[in-house]
Amino acid sequence: MNDWTVDPERVSGDVRLDGYAGTVGLSETADVYVHGGAVTGELIVDDAEYVYTDVPAEGGGPPGERTVDTAVAGEEDGYVRDVDGDLVVRNVEDVFVADAGAATLSAPGAERVFHDDEATPTKPPDDYEVSVAGWEQTETARDPRDGVAVLGARNEVTIEKAAHDITVYVVGWGNEVTVEGSDADVTTFFVGRDNRVSVGPYLEATTAADSGTDNELHREPIPPEALIQTAESEAKSGLLFGRHRLTWQAPTDEEWCQNCGADADAVIVRRQSDAFYLFGVPVWTFDEGGAAYECEQCSTHVGRVSLSESERREALR
Ligand SMILES: [Zn+2]
Repeated sequence: MNDWTVDPERVSGDVRLDGYAGTVGLSETADVYVHGGAVTGELIVDDAEYVYTDVPAEGGGPPGERTVDTAVAGEEDGYVRDVDGDLVVRNVEDVFVADAGAATLSAPGAERVFHDDEATPTKPPDDYEVSVAGWEQTETARDPRDGVAVLGARNEVTIEKAAHDITVYVVGWGNEVTVEGSDADVTTFFVGRDNRVSVGPYLEATTAADSGTDNELHREPIPPEALIQTAESEAKSGLLFGRHRLTWQAPTDEEWCQNCGADADAVIVRRQSDAFYLFGVPVWTFDEGGAAYECEQCSTHVGRVSLSESERREALR
């Protein structure tokens, strides 16, 4: 089903549809990636494997003869950025369609269509401060104000020192986004498969919509060390003679906090001792003191990072 009503232009390597108009046919590529706002009219998937889309698929007619003005046939991937009109896709592998990638979509010839209409981004992802498109691109950026858009396959993006709420918008497969920072929400959208977003322990992370399979949002747990103000060795260093009342904290393997009852990433125990030291050795203990537990939910001390307003209120309650 590659027959077009015109002879296709043959492109070796990736096909880039940028600045095309009328009804355009695209065939014989591997995967096809459709940027946000790329197709002003209808995107018709006549023959493809899986379609992962942020644009809902509507009825459309059965695959058949389509009259096209221009046709392009490729060998590798297809990137669709700007088609002023309709686009018909045939004999390709997977098709990935970003938010507003087409005015309408019909996919009568797709093996399967993945679409999650749970949420849509509040701002077009193609306008985000950090935007990566292609194959195996690498980018590092610091504290973007709106978001990160990734389109394509096996790209790696690292965001450092995130301090503003951001959207991470991932279209394609095998992409990896890592976000480090604190006091910010990371809202993730997936369109595709096998993508992974990893978020540091001091950020909140949610998946808003997942149009695909095997995508993963992973939030690193808060390490117990972040709650520790004084370690035991620190508390006991330099003691030679006399009676000393000491307080220190130690990490535990607990996943539940005895103090506040929360399921926690990091539970530490606060210990005290009151002892008489001779030549640095405790020779008489007045009181072993108890063990008081705390976690990242109820501790007033979370490492060197500041707490968010809501966490602070929670901690001080
Ligand atoms: Zn607690």
